Amino acid sequence: MTEQLFREDSYLKECDAVVVTVDDNAIVLDRTVFYPMGGGQPADTGTIHWDGGSATVIDTRYGDGGAIRHIVAADAARPQAGGQVRASIDWDRRYRHMRMHTALHLLGSILKYGVTGGNISAEKSRLDFDMEDTIDKEEVGRALKTLVEENHLVSCRWITDEELEAQPDLVRTMSVQPPKGAGKVRLLEIEGVDLQPCGGTHLKSTGEVGQVRIGKVEKKGKRNRRVNIHLDD
Ligand SMILES: [Zn+2]
Repeated sequence: MTEQLFREDSYLKECDAVVVTVDDNAIVLDRTVFYPMGGGQPADTGTIHWDGGSATVIDTRYGDGGAIRHIVAADAARPQAGGQVRASIDWDRRYRHMRMHTALHLLGSILKYGVTGGNISAEKSRLDFDMEDTIDKEEVGRALKTLVEENHLVSCRWITDEELEAQPDLVRTMSVQPPKGAGKVRLLEIEGVDLQPCGGTHLKSTGEVGQVRIGKVEKKGKRNRRVNIHLDD
């Protein structure tokens, strides 16, 4: 099981760790700052350094039993199992993912329709909405800009199934229903804007989203509108 440091602090750029296993294409560590692909957010890339070598991490995936696999190129050097390493993510790329991810939460709070899909990348991100209505792009763009400028605090907390059951009002205020039966749920709260279960990496406050713009709005079927967003820097 790899300790997921990025869940508690999404701003960690690197960490020291111990190598648990090394196989053909992956290095498993006891702890990591690398986000594995999931929830519409791309995997982190970066570098693992050790005494006398380093390997470029080209992908990060969940493995068996809670392991996180740092995928390296076939011809990359490998550290020894049991050895000490330093794991460093490509922070510029990840920070854009965090800005995009947080911006998508804001977009979802403006367009109050069911979300049927989504995808994040450093260049462009999107949400698919279950809706037939036409979107006023200018108006949505202005609302998004306002939520960024208002600089709402963003926080994450874990809540147990029991705590959740004891607070039915909390579930009612969520934009997405929490998954049941996992024992605990990670909640993402954008103060006064959004509350929903989410496992991704987010900013500390919405002001850090910066220059965001609504891109193309695509009609993907009768009841599906795809809204794209871009970062203008
Ligand atoms: Zn999220």
